[in-house]
Amino acid sequence: MSRDPRCPRCEPGAESLSELLEGTLSAPQRHELDRHLAGCADCRALLAALREQIEACRATPRPVPSPDCVARAVQTLQAELARRRAGPH
Ligand SMILES: [Zn+2]
Repeated sequence: MSRDPRCPRCEPGAESLSELLEGTLSAPQRHELDRHLAGCADCRALLAALREQIEACRATPRPVPSPDCVARAVQTLQAELARRRAGPH
């Protein structure tokens, strides 16, 4: 069972996407990720879905989304991406 945390085609990977949404990326990192997103529909879809998940986390009564909540969202979306890639073309 593959548990590679990064999409093999994508340098930044979902980890960077979650960091982008958490605001923990440095400016150069964010710039690099923006450039990648411009050419990668997979990552754009992942980012949009991730953002929704995190909004849902923030909507809970807790003042700050727990890292665990974000990590779970990332895992769910990575699994979804992997399933799409594994499907027939
Ligand atoms: Zn990508």
